Amino acid sequence: MDHRKNFQLIAGPCAVESKSQIFRLAKLLRSSGITHMRAGAWKPRTFPDTFQGLGFEGLEMAREACDQNGLRLVSEIVDVRDVDRAASKIDWVQIGARNMQNFPLLREVGKHSKRVLLKRGFGNTFEEVAGAYEHIQTSAIGECEIVVCERGIQTFERSLRATLDFAGALYFRSQFGCPVFVDPSHATGKRELVAPLVAAAYVAGFDGAMIEVHDAPGEAECDGEQAISVEELGELITFLEIARRI
Ligand code: PEP
Ligand code: MN
Repeated sequence: MDHRKNFQLIAGPCAVESKSQIFRLAKLLRSSGITHMRAGAWKPRTFPDTFQGLGFEGLEMAREACDQNGLRLVSEIVDVRDVDRAASKIDWVQIGARNMQNFPLLREVGKHSKRVLLKRGFGNTFEEVAGAYEHIQTSAIGECEIVVCERGIQTFERSLRATLDFAGALYFRSQFGCPVFVDPSHATGKRELVAPLVAAAYVAGFDGAMIEVHDAPGEAECDGEQAISVEELGELITFLEIARRI
């Protein structure tokens, strides 16, 4: 099967920042041709004095913005206590890198979700990714589609935010057989590397990519330096459309 035909692009801001921001972005993403919007309501940040997300209020805003624009919502749940209430509002529940081995959270998300985007922890092997996958799968009630996302790991190399383990992810995909996405935004921390790496992921035969997009990246509450603009997203989508026809 040629996975390139089904390559899926998930795009959106790192975080829901306000009602006007998320409604504005949802509309722009929809008119660019995006079908799945990412937007975090809870942000796992390194330091507590930084923006932590708008929580349930932000989730409601993102849900409404998606519904109004015919978009699917990809959003992270970080706390096991929120799963019951939050999962029904999210189309693809994201497990973030920091929570990949939070087993109670994995089991609860498995129980409540139909689709899960499982991010590889930045200190985890693919064997551990497979273990996390199985925790979700064995807790699922009925069908639960799980997609793994390579978002870079921590190595001795410090020039970028993380080291995108392209080869490891591709190998895992061939051995394990589940869909694998790539997140070049969190892997590199640099917006100029996002489009080239999405193009590379497409050519390599990954199932999709998740990227951060903002209409004013310089003003973003978090991760602005790795967010591409809506115009750059348009160019990337045009590139993928042309590549699909070749
Ligand atoms: C995110 O995608 O919003 C995120 C926090 O990424 P990660 O868990 O990969 O750091
Ligand atoms: Mn982010």
